[in-house]
Amino acid sequence: MKPQIMPMQDAAAYRQVLRRKKSELLSELRSELAAMIELQEQDDPRAATVQDRSVLERLANLDYKELKQVDAAMDRLEAGTYGTCSECGRLIDARRLDALPWAVRCRFCEERNAALLGAT
Ligand SMILES: [Zn+2]
Repeated sequence: MKPQIMPMQDAAAYRQVLRRKKSELLSELRSELAAMIELQEQDDPRAATVQDRSVLERLANLDYKELKQVDAAMDRLEAGTYGTCSECGRLIDARRLDALPWAVRCRFCEERNAALLGAT
């Protein structure tokens, strides 16, 4: 089956959404890093708390992971494959994309994947 392609005007709208999300994530990462560096430079006793593993893990895993997902979605926009399920080639439901603009699979394939992963 030939993969379905999202209409141009929809792709343009999601490009805006992704750009906004990316700059939000970048400024969050920046301000968290800046706060951390500032405390270290001041030899602030709170620096130890800020260096706490959980903060670093959150930065490394959560925000950074989202940033990578947003970047990958923007690459798919440029390649013209954005909004198309990577597995079945159907268009991903607009409601799903609105909730999760970097979704790679449609809800059906995502659920099937989760079920497969859960079974092993
Ligand atoms: Zn699918």
